[in-house]
Amino acid sequence: MELKGVHKRFGPVRAVEGLDLRLREGEFFTLLGPSGCGKTTTLRLVAGFEAPDRGEVLIGGEVVNPLPPERRPIGMVFQHYALFPNMTVFGNVAFPLRLRRLPEGEVRRRVGELLEMVHLVGLEGRYPKELSGGQQQRVALARALAREPKVLLLDEPLSALDARIREELRGELKRLQGETGLTTLYVTHDQEEALALSDRIAVMREGRLEQLGTPKEVYEEPATAFVAGFVGSGVLVPGEAREGLFHRGRAWPVRVRGEGRGYLLLRPERLRLDQGGFLEGRVVLATYLGSLVRLEVEAEGLFLKVDLPPEGVPAPGERVRLALPPEAPFVPEGG
Ligand code: ATP
Repeated sequence: MELKGVHKRFGPVRAVEGLDLRLREGEFFTLLGPSGCGKTTTLRLVAGFEAPDRGEVLIGGEVVNPLPPERRPIGMVFQHYALFPNMTVFGNVAFPLRLRRLPEGEVRRRVGELLEMVHLVGLEGRYPKELSGGQQQRVALARALAREPKVLLLDEPLSALDARIREELRGELKRLQGETGLTTLYVTHDQEEALALSDRIAVMREGRLEQLGTPKEVYEEPATAFVAGFVGSGVLVPGEAREGLFHRGRAWPVRVRGEGRGYLLLRPERLRLDQGGFLEGRVVLATYLGSLVRLEVEAEGLFLKVDLPPEGVPAPGERVRLALPPEAPFVPEGG
């Protein structure tokens, strides 16, 4: 699937501005960004619910701009379940198969297979209102797969579910996508979800692509301050990269790539308490999060976050020393 120079405006709002994307066969590709950055519009352009002002959408090498949604080789799952309320689970999943006028025996066989894939065997006769949110999303997924699409489009399919079900279904989605090998375009504003699921992530901002990379690249080498701020947590420390080291007044013992003014990204999991540590500071806040405690430490005018195992954590007011990571991401100014 490919987008070439796609633009879409709604009156004065530039929802998508000159987007070029090319998904690889079988990859799990995520559009990640804050509310209003143009993710859903991009998905709707691929699905055919919106027409681009300029540019082309290609699926399987063919330009699909003139095709209505029902003639595009896509399957789609929305945030809200969008099942047919007057049809059973069986009826919902069978719908696209019956549209294709498959013989009834074939329909039964395919629906059986699909319900097995999404672990819903036994619930064929229920109506959507008799299902939990997670189960409804499984039906929606089975119905999308029943079309045998070339591309699966998923618009925040997990965001309406509660945390435990969300994590469970996230794992299943990853498994299913691996099993079917289906090229998938996923939209979310949840960075954890994007990191967990994706082969590659496109971080979007104001209708444009901010950075494209693997989850590891986006997390460990953010190209801009926006990406650094949006993906993961951390603090951006203004300073300068010089001769391979970060400088803020003096040289810090942190290796960085680049040269000139910019920001050092200090992630909470990369900082440690150490009596011989480079920075001296004072604990301002300690927040218990179950598996860890997040400290906020004031040091040299900065408020740094430090994640620690929950045992023996210093209390607010205590003086501590922080050891810096030997190397860290550096975002150039202007980024
Ligand atoms: P969210 O996560 O909140 O869904 P998003 O990143 O998916 O956000 P879009 O829904 O693509 O963002 O919207 C991008 C911009 O286009 C927003 O400013 C939005 O208000 C605007 N927009 C989207 N659809 C329409 C429409 N039909 N009419 C007018 N403006 C629209």
